[in-house]
Amino acid sequence: MRFEHGRGLPGSVLDTGAAVWIRDVTQDPDFQRAAAAKACDLHAAFAFPVLAGDDVLAVMEFFYRSSLEPDEPLLAVMGQIGTQLGRVMERKRAEDKLIYDASHDPLTGLPNRLLFTDRLDRAVAAHKRRPEIGFAVLFIDLDRFKLVNDSLGHAAGDALLIEIAGRLSAVLTKEEGHGVLPTLARLGGDEFTILLEELDSSSIAIEIAERLQDALRRPLTIEGQDVYTSASIGIASSDAGYSSAADLMRDADLAMYRAKSEGRARIEIFDQSLHETATRRLSLESDLRGALRKQEFVLYYQPIVALDGGDIVGFEALVRWQRGSGELVPPAEFIALAEETGLIVFIGNWVMRDAFATLAAWQTAHPRSVPLTMSVNVSPRQFRQPDFVEQVIAAVKESGARPDTIRLEITEGVTVQDADHAIGILQRLREFGVRVSIDDFGTGYSSLSYLHQLPFDTLKIDRSFVNALQEKSDGNRIIQTILDLAKSLNMDVVAEGAETEHHVDQLREMGCRFAQGYYFSRPLDHTAATALLRR
Ligand code: C2E
Ligand code: MG
Ligand code: MG
Repeated sequence: MRFEHGRGLPGSVLDTGAAVWIRDVTQDPDFQRAAAAKACDLHAAFAFPVLAGDDVLAVMEFFYRSSLEPDEPLLAVMGQIGTQLGRVMERKRAEDKLIYDASHDPLTGLPNRLLFTDRLDRAVAAHKRRPEIGFAVLFIDLDRFKLVNDSLGHAAGDALLIEIAGRLSAVLTKEEGHGVLPTLARLGGDEFTILLEELDSSSIAIEIAERLQDALRRPLTIEGQDVYTSASIGIASSDAGYSSAADLMRDADLAMYRAKSEGRARIEIFDQSLHETATRRLSLESDLRGALRKQEFVLYYQPIVALDGGDIVGFEALVRWQRGSGELVPPAEFIALAEETGLIVFIGNWVMRDAFATLAAWQTAHPRSVPLTMSVNVSPRQFRQPDFVEQVIAAVKESGARPDTIRLEITEGVTVQDADHAIGILQRLREFGVRVSIDDFGTGYSSLSYLHQLPFDTLKIDRSFVNALQEKSDGNRIIQTILDLAKSLNMDVVAEGAETEHHVDQLREMGCRFAQGYYFSRPLDHTAATALLRR
């Protein structure tokens, strides 16, 4: 029976929070169960609240066979009991809430990693007992979530996550009961995981993944703006015979990474080849650490040439990894991993020290009216080091080279991420005297609105534009535009990747003053570069 607030015996106790005594319920017009009381031959009744502070948690009723006058001492005792009971209930609730909070994500209310792994552990154990029934783990990562967060702010990011969680669980609710037992969890950030149990076949997991992607594809409205999102999903299933939850999570995660790297908004299923790639990566990482310890990095130097006259004005230092086997590994094969693992900070620091020392030696051996310059590449991670400026200053001072002969090459992406911070760093570097170049210009997000605020000295045109140089073509027009832009911003220009005489002639004609490329020289080791300078 449902009691309205203020109606009937429990309703009025609930409303007032005070005990109520009724001499004879069969005579009470407000007592709604008079007929039942008569049938059971019950007459007197009292009820009291179970209280937590002023909140009524519950109401308890007692009945008696004959009618009775109110017994105040009895009511007082029962009131005390109600308060005690309330405390017990409150403690239990707090305990439940603690357990709930520790196992759920506060933003979306979904199970968190702890609860998810616990369920997965149980699924792994259950599968051992009943191998014919399968399960799968889906690892979901939103594509471009960072973009929303960075452009619309954290509140919008939170709203997006809540909306996404709702969409995912709506899809899963529909699946539930059709031979699938789903658990959706949020691991943190934009990472969600789903455990699908009771699967007859792992192909069901793929179908569900597709439905999830469809659900995310519809645009979301966040703070009045249409936001488009998609998800990359990795799947690992019990088919592969797992013995631990951690292994499953790792493999579903690996599959998700592949989905991302193959172009996002994709579904990938874990297989052995993925495992091998990951293992290779891991061993490359530990080899890289070893390379640092064993000092296996070497610098090659590529001359930068003045197009009128053909003089070498400086060099760009380019790192290579000389493996114990003698193999020379190009930076394309290890810089990205070094960046991801943070090893680039150490490599980059070594590069600066070594290159500046070489520069100082060359400047002493070959004094000229305009001293030779040295360019080194600075990675995004290196640039973001809080003491980056201090590292540069220390390396320059230690070498004895003149600061104004040093060029730090930075790609556009680094500065666009946090322009204000970048401007500050660049200004401090210039105050010290070193010069800064913008590398691979035209390949990143060239933000023209920032470019004029960023105190760059030199702009390096990416070699893809030089490559496209043909007689009277768009390639020429792009380079001409970049040259004009640089001129109006008062920057020097170095064209990269000049490979042919034609390139060089064209560049010179268009007014580009400096270039580097295979036409002049490939990057040379220290000995060959020293010999070239002497010549
Ligand atoms: P980058 O800074 O744009 O360097 C120019 C790259 O173009 C070099 O490749 C150079 O060998 C190559 N190159 C020069 N002239 C020509 C040409 O005429 N034709 C062609 N096809 N290529 C030419 P490399 O040495 O393999 O370096 C690749 C990239 O690796 C560099 O691009 C730079 O981004 C990165 N890198 C190299 N050394 C370092 C380093 O010490 N630290 C960091 N963070 N990155 C480095
Ligand atoms: Mg460079
Ligand atoms: Mg470049």
